[in-house]
Amino acid sequence: MKLFAIFGDPVAHSRSPLMHNNVFKNLHANACYTRVHLKDGTHLKETFFALKLHGANVTVPHKEAAYDACDEVRGFAKKIGAVNTLVNENGRLIGYNTDADGFMYAIKPFQPIHSILVFGAGGTAKALVNKFLDDDITVHVVNRSQRRLDYFQQLGVATHTWDHMPQRTFDLILNTTSAGLDTDTYPAPIESLEPYMTTCHYCADVIYGKTTPFLALARHHGKIFKDGADMLLGQGVLAASYFLEGSFSNEQIETEMKKSFLL
Ligand code: NDP
Repeated sequence: MKLFAIFGDPVAHSRSPLMHNNVFKNLHANACYTRVHLKDGTHLKETFFALKLHGANVTVPHKEAAYDACDEVRGFAKKIGAVNTLVNENGRLIGYNTDADGFMYAIKPFQPIHSILVFGAGGTAKALVNKFLDDDITVHVVNRSQRRLDYFQQLGVATHTWDHMPQRTFDLILNTTSAGLDTDTYPAPIESLEPYMTTCHYCADVIYGKTTPFLALARHHGKIFKDGADMLLGQGVLAASYFLEGSFSNEQIETEMKKSFLL
């Protein structure tokens, strides 16, 4: 039996074991997926091989450590320096990143998208903004503090703090901050947020499993919106297709993984 796991700190809340085990069970793959609470990311590689894992996912705060642990990093992960999917390929640790493609999967029904206003400048924003730029989407990034905006300025992206907001409209407004995760806060003061909400077509949040104040505001303004559940599903489908090495189509995996969201 092939063994898989998710590494994180914390990791108890993760839906990944449920999502992947549902796929393995329903597609009759001889595999099992568990979770590993890893405090020190520098121990990731030795723990992965000590547990004889065939593959793994990596969540907060170890995605950069996972990048460093890999023998080879492929595709988009190379560009952003963060890995969320690991595969044991003949004793070599291969790293991928499926988060950004997972988000693009989530917003497929939101078309056309030519411009996006991104709130937040953390790891998730880095991955998504790089993907938007690859897809020729105009992006502006807003963060409550200046420090993390430097990275985006170097990419040539227009950046803003709350006191100098952009003077234009956007197709999609996206919350990548943790505001609303444990607190009832907006990603920016409501008076800075509302002008964009009233003029945009769509709103999206990467937080899943709850209606954040940001999404409640989107609903109040009659916008089409979604939380982070479809992004979670999208990144999971792509990770599972690496784990299962092409034995099943993405459509088959998606059908079975979706069912885990009803459990
Ligand atoms: P980081 O810690 O790297 O970045 C957090 C960002 O949020 C920073 O820009 C920070 O601003 C900002 N922020 C935090 N609190 C507030 C607040 N109260 N008001 C305004 N801004 C705030 O986090 P990640 O990018 O790794 O993760 C962000 C979220 O994305 C998490 O909730 C995570 O669960 C979710 N996520 C969801 C996924 C999915 O599949 N749906 C996948 C990956 C992540 P500052 O720089 O000023 O501190």
